[in-house]
Amino acid sequence: MDFPVSGTCQCGQVKITLLKPPQKVVACHCKECQKLSSSPYSVTALFGKPDLKIEGQLSTWNRVADSGSDNTAKFCPSCGNRVYHFNPSQPELIKLKLKPVGIQDTSIFKPQAHVWTKEKQAWFVLPDDVPSYSEMPA
Ligand SMILES: [Zn+2]
Ligand SMILES: [Zn+2]
Repeated sequence: MDFPVSGTCQCGQVKITLLKPPQKVVACHCKECQKLSSSPYSVTALFGKPDLKIEGQLSTWNRVADSGSDNTAKFCPSCGNRVYHFNPSQPELIKLKLKPVGIQDTSIFKPQAHVWTKEKQAWFVLPDDVPSYSEMPA
């Protein structure tokens, strides 16, 4: 796939341009991720801040994670799509939540690990070609 590639949130207000593939992609089955993604699990793609461009208006919500670290969530104020998260003490690491609409080849978002599977939906069957962890591996 040739970079850059770009896509948008559901309403098109936020535009995301990826200059490189993600460093890592993780599927998280914890209850918080089930809430934030309105689905059985969330898929997070990690990017260095210079490796993507985000344009458009974003709203902010902060929460303290179970680990005690701060988590800042950015979302589209118009359609509500969660766009990305970051830890304010680690602002160079962007945890992209939204898999931008419009990217032709979404194979770059295939999870390389499934984590927090102890909180997963009982009916979700884990793929056996990807490692899975009952919590977050160290
Ligand atoms: Zn939107
Ligand atoms: Zn999670």
